[in-house]
Formats: sequence, structure tokens, C-alpha cells
Amino acid sequence: MTVPASAQAHQAERAQLAAATALAVRAVWQGVDPEQLETSWAARAPLAAELIGRGQLTAAASAEPWLVAELGEGEGSVAPLAAAAATGDLAPVLLAPLLVSLNRIRRGFARTLSILSGAALLEMVTRTLIADAGRIADMAGMIARPRVVSYVRVVEAPACARCIVLAGREYSFAEGFLRHPRCDCTMAARRPGDTWVPDLPEDLAAQMTEVQLQKAFGQDAAAAIADGADIAQVVNARRGMSTGTYYGRRVRTTSEGTTRRGLYGRQRAQFAKAAGVRFGEVTGGRARAVSPRLMPEEIYRLADGDRAHAIRLLRKNGYIV
Ligand SMILES: [Zn+2]
Repeated sequence: MTVPASAQAHQAERAQLAAATALAVRAVWQGVDPEQLETSWAARAPLAAELIGRGQLTAAASAEPWLVAELGEGEGSVAPLAAAAATGDLAPVLLAPLLVSLNRIRRGFARTLSILSGAALLEMVTRTLIADAGRIADMAGMIARPRVVSYVRVVEAPACARCIVLAGREYSFAEGFLRHPRCDCTMAARRPGDTWVPDLPEDLAAQMTEVQLQKAFGQDAAAAIADGADIAQVVNARRGMSTGTYYGRRVRTTSEGTTRRGLYGRQRAQFAKAAGVRFGEVTGGRARAVSPRLMPEEIYRLADGDRAHAIRLLRKNGYIV
């Protein structure tokens, strides 16, 4: 037995959406004029913002029907917009690839290569934003169903070593989802009395080819695993993984800290406006995306075992309506 097939299908659907959106957003970036990076990206960024926003909303909107089919109605239904907004401001995210590229050009790298660095960053960020929006929605929806007591990590093979080693682990909602950039793992709801037994790291490894194992673990560790070594022993599961560090929230400080403030200041309004497009709420050049202040896991921690209070806080923060 493994996690319910519907949870696995939910994961696959999310991963596909994140990949497809990232590809589309990357194509928008690749259309920049190499000689006019700043202005041409500023002109294209609204389209990228719209694609990211639409991807996030689609991801978050898939939480409710999945949970209803799986577990029945909750104490309110998940609001996709709040889950998407919770990932943070999109303006710094859109600015980041530009800053990375300009930095590289300044340091003497070829223009085309520098633009590729920006593309890679944007693709990574897009995947992460979409996965995060989906997981936030999933978690809010699960907390809104008191019979769900915990969640189990859903990992799809092939995956990276850090995720494989966490496959099938059960967590409290108080623990935020452990993930790395581009991570497309999701969660399955767990109720008392559920009898399914999730795949363990060894089960996942057994589904992977030799080449995939080598890619995930490195040659030596892959050989050790093939010889029967305990996967948990050969992988440092925590390395590069974090909870609660949502990309759109973190990248702002990163771009402000590592680049000329001037550029950020000058183009901030422009990108904020572009970011506002995803919520269709641009007022006087200023985006008004209302972002919930607390993440679902923070809410759960605050409620300290009082599920009714957690649900009240979810509602107050706009996650459920
Ligand atoms: Zn991973």
C-alpha cells in the first residue's frame, strides 16, 4: 500500500502545472532585448506576472475539490487568492532575474550567458511560487477539516535525495512543509484509522533507475544504497531544506542586500505594478495584493491544539471563506 492514489495524482498534477508555467515564464524572459534589458523586461514583466499569478491560483484552486472528494466538506472552503498572496510580493521576484543578469554583465560575463542565468533563476522561482501556493492551500484546507490530524509527505520518484529520505514521514501541521527551491513534493491528509502505509525511502529508490539514483545521491552513495545501505544514513536530509521561508518573502531582502538600491528603487513601482496584474488590482500604479500575515502552520502553532481557534484564525487571515 502507499499514499492514496488521489494524493499521488494531486502531486503529479501540481508538478506538471509548476513545470509548464515555469517554461512559459522562461520564454517570456528569453524574449528580452539583450541590449535593452531593463526596459524590455519591464515591458514583458506584466505578462510573466500574469502567468505566475494564474499558475498560483490554479494550483491553489485545486486544493478544495481534491479535499472535498477525499475527506468531505471542511469548515469553510479554501480561498485560492489568499494562498497565492501568502507567498509574498511578486515585484522583487520579477526584478531578481534582471538584477542577476545585470550583475553578471557588469562582472564581465557575456550578455547571452548572463541572460540565461536570469532565466534559470526565474524558472526556479516560478516553480517554487506555484508549489508553495498549492501547499499553502492544501494545508489550510486540511486544518479546516478537524478529522485530519497530520500530513504525510508525498514524493514522486525520481526525486532528489533530500526528498526521498523524507518520503512517507508524518508531520504535525505545526511543522511547516520542509522543502527546497523547485521542490514539488506535496502532502497527503492523515486521519486516525487511516490504514494506508506510505512508501518509504527504500521503496522510492527501488522505483528509480541506476542513472536516476546516481543523479540523486551521487555515485558512491548510490552504490552504497544498491548494496543495501540505509538511505537515511547516507543523506543529510536537512541540508538546503527550510520551512516557512517563502520565496517571494525572502527574495526582497536578497535583492535589496546584494544589488544597487538605486535600481531597485527606480524600478520598484514599475514591477510592483506588474506584480499587481496577477491580482487584477492595480490602483494608481500601486499593487494592492492583500497578503495574509500568518502562514497556516504559524496559525496552527499559535492555536496550540485548539482546532476551532485555528479555524477562526484561518478565516480571519482569509485562507478559508
Ligand atoms: Zn527534492
